[in-house]
Amino acid sequence: MTMAHDHVMPTDLTRNQELVLGTLNHAPAPLSAYDILDLLRSEGLRAPLQVYRALDKLVERGLAHRLESLNAFVACADEHCHRKGLIAFAICEGCGKVDEFADAVIEERLGKWAGATGFKVERTTMEIRGKCAECLKAA
Ligand SMILES: [Zn+2]
Ligand SMILES: [Zn+2]
Repeated sequence: MTMAHDHVMPTDLTRNQELVLGTLNHAPAPLSAYDILDLLRSEGLRAPLQVYRALDKLVERGLAHRLESLNAFVACADEHCHRKGLIAFAICEGCGKVDEFADAVIEERLGKWAGATGFKVERTTMEIRGKCAECLKAA
């Protein structure tokens, strides 16, 4: 059996979930629910609720992430990120590009802090704002 590893599309998604995830996978920058709705009107999506429901499920399953500071969504770029428990996003304020990564050092420190304070961490999302290397080069 051969399997593609890039943008694996789970087979049990609803049509709307598949459309929304496909849109996020192809987007160069995060999209708001309304951006997604606009892009999917030609596919027959009319109501914001259809997009919100699909997004809820995709986020719940870790296939997409919500960026709180932008109120926008991105497709998950790292199929292993949830095993590590920490998700970090570097958001470029120049071009809007978002890089998702996980960092073992931050996670280890966070783990020590959680152990010391007795705080039970459910999930950690870091949003780092700034300028990417490409934008700095162009400036
Ligand atoms: Zn992810
Ligand atoms: Zn940039």
